[in-house]
Amino acid sequence: MGTAFVNCDETIERLYSYLDGELTDDRRREIAQHLDLCGPCVHAFGFEAELRKVIANRCRDHVPDALIDRVASALKEEQIHPQG
Ligand SMILES: [Zn+2]
Repeated sequence: MGTAFVNCDETIERLYSYLDGELTDDRRREIAQHLDLCGPCVHAFGFEAELRKVIANRCRDHVPDALIDRVASALKEEQIHPQG
């Protein structure tokens, strides 16, 4: 296992910020580099990205605000209390 790039746990944690557009260009580059090399993280990233898209596009019409709040809270919890 190479260690030249950020590890999976760090990548997953940063995905949330990445999706929120809160990361610096350097951090984005690190994550993008990791995603190029790590299949599992690509899946995780894809899932989160899809979730955000669903929330952004569809949920506005079909899902109660309470559910959107719950998802947003869950994602924030992940950031506040990262595993490991
Ligand atoms: Zn990974």
